[in-house]
Amino acid sequence: MEADTSILDAAVVGAGWAGLGVSHALSQAGLRHCVLERGRIGETWRTQRWDSFRMNTPNRVTVMPGDHYEGADPEGFLTRDGFVALLEQFAARNRLPIRTGSPVTELVQDEESGGYRLATPDGTLRARNVIIASGSLNRPRRPAVADALPPGLIQVDASDYRNPAALPVGAVLVVGSGQSGGQIAEDLVLAGRRVYLATSRIRRFPRRYRGQDIVQWLLQAGWMDVPRRDFVEPSGRIPPRPLLGAVHTISLQSLSAQGVVLLGRFTGVADSVRLTFANDLPDNMTFADEASDKLKRKIDDFIAQNGLQAPAAEPDPAEIVAPRLPNPLIRSLAPTGQGITTVIWCTGFEGDYHWVRLPGVLDARGQPVHEESVANLPGIYFAGLDFAVTRRSGTIMAIAEEARRVVQHITARRP
Ligand SMILES: Cc1cc2nc3c(=O)[nH]c(=O)nc-3n(C[C@H](O)[C@H](O)[C@H](O)COP(=O)(O)OP(=O)(O)OC[C@H]3O[C@@H](n4cnc5c(N)ncnc54)[C@H](O)[C@@H]3O)c2cc1C
Repeated sequence: MEADTSILDAAVVGAGWAGLGVSHALSQAGLRHCVLERGRIGETWRTQRWDSFRMNTPNRVTVMPGDHYEGADPEGFLTRDGFVALLEQFAARNRLPIRTGSPVTELVQDEESGGYRLATPDGTLRARNVIIASGSLNRPRRPAVADALPPGLIQVDASDYRNPAALPVGAVLVVGSGQSGGQIAEDLVLAGRRVYLATSRIRRFPRRYRGQDIVQWLLQAGWMDVPRRDFVEPSGRIPPRPLLGAVHTISLQSLSAQGVVLLGRFTGVADSVRLTFANDLPDNMTFADEASDKLKRKIDDFIAQNGLQAPAAEPDPAEIVAPRLPNPLIRSLAPTGQGITTVIWCTGFEGDYHWVRLPGVLDARGQPVHEESVANLPGIYFAGLDFAVTRRSGTIMAIAEEARRVVQHITARRP
């Protein structure tokens, strides 16, 4: 293909929900643009989610800009493949200009035009504005201690886990008890695998409360719209999203009752062969229980203050079940002794922006520097970033508003 020398109004990098949502808003504003996608539409969802994966946002709110859920199961949860189909249909229905199989290998300033150049294996594109929607949660993060694990243990990231049968025979150690860790541990134990779970200090939300899905309450009570400045810690850290089971509540006690062996936080390797764990399992369990109780009290207050009709609270089986904790608690174990063959790291994700070669746009860790998705170079934007503006940011429930805002910004700076 010849290099494309015409200058587009905008180029969007990535065809996940963020890139597609922005493309839709650009089309509506009549801006000439192109979406460059390294793989297929929804590539992250196709290749980085396990087979039994379900969205944890209910169908009612798992919708793209301008769409409304019209199916028969508003409180249900889409499967991985169902969600990819939703994205594909949205792109086709809106005739979005997407080039799949087109990875951006370099994004640089274009001195000549004052815009930007995007290199792909098929040629170079120029655009006045670039929206980076390449995903802020699609490169797994492993703790440094992973390098010290005894050789012979298979190490897998949550994004590479597919199903229990795809792992080697033997017990599995899942590290991290957030959304991915909790759901993967349950997937494994339900398949009859022996599972150890190194827990973390992370909140838990129940799936439903007082007659409706928890996400519905979070939206209704304005919790999802709390601005970033109100929950970012002084260190700049943002507490991770709580453990929330897709479809039903998952708690440390429900996993334990199902047979998962709970451990404290994974701290390292002793004598080259023994894996060690902190003494914090009871604290981690209490912390999660308290977070769930606190949220429920907030919802109760919201219901009372607004005079809403809602059924009385009912106990959630996953929250009241008695755990079967190891006694004494396990502080160290030798993988070979316990038959552990695989470690699955569920220790978080970040974005892969190695191809962005622009001054001041990434921080020392290679992650976005931005103010409400606007980078500090004119015409450079991010979309889909977790917690960019509010708690809703980074979920599909944010994209309609985010896309509108980014496109308004672009239109306002048009010559
Ligand atoms: C395990 C997990 C479960 C989640 N569940 C939910 C949920 O149920 N509901 C919800 O609302 N949110 C959920 N999220 C959060 C959020 O939806 C994801 O982070 C989401 O993928 C963000 O959308 P995105 O379009 O920004 O990124 P992505 O979906 O990652 O899309 C980015 C796209 O950019 C492409 N790309 C990357 N680099 C390049 C390049 N150099 N050139 C061209 N293309 C490129 C990728 O191939 C990909 O298709 C979940 C996140 C995780 C990790």
